[in-house]
Amino acid sequence: MDLFDDKDWGEILKPLIEKYRNHRHPLHYGNIYQLLVMVILSAQDRDDHINSLAPAIFDRYPTIDTLTEANQNDLTQLLQGVRYHNNKIEWILQTAKIIKSKGYIPENMKELTTLPGIGRKSANVLLREMGRPSEGVLVDLHVLRVAPRLGITKATVADTIEKDLMKHVPKNLWEDTGLSLSFLGREICRPTNPKHNECILADSCEWFKSVVKS
Ligand code: SF4
Repeated sequence: MDLFDDKDWGEILKPLIEKYRNHRHPLHYGNIYQLLVMVILSAQDRDDHINSLAPAIFDRYPTIDTLTEANQNDLTQLLQGVRYHNNKIEWILQTAKIIKSKGYIPENMKELTTLPGIGRKSANVLLREMGRPSEGVLVDLHVLRVAPRLGITKATVADTIEKDLMKHVPKNLWEDTGLSLSFLGREICRPTNPKHNECILADSCEWFKSVVKS
């Protein structure tokens, strides 16, 4: 048994989940097609940056079908400020073609993660926003920082952190756990100068107990 197995993380996280459950997703999408494109673009970039570009993209390419007819140069003009835009443009174009040939956007982890540019993090976001059953827990760069600080995991890589979250949090809370921890990381548990005094999880936080209070 590891050090933190005795904690009931489901109960501990419930107030956080209540606080953030109804918050709007940080990517301001209009439909699942738009979210699919935006999660690919947002990797290693800021959500607010992608939000600012989104209207121009979707005015020009309002559907998957229209996106399959886009060319690389046109998309480069729209997306040249996005990090790794060349790779992302290829992934978006390939993904649009795959979905057009399938005739539907996949609604499960296995199929979603076969799409170019879609890993487990993006698939977890899509499943939640689609209202489909959770098959994992979202681990973005905020969760990557917050979960080890809290003591839910000692891991530092996303896949292992996700496995630890799935082990320690009841399945019925998976859907909201990742995004709630992400909002905590965005608003309170910042990389520098985390606002421990405003944190509703401070009483259960290992980092606060061992580093800050001691
Ligand atoms: S108590 Fe501090 S370190 Fe712990 S989760 Fe809250 S803000 Fe982060």
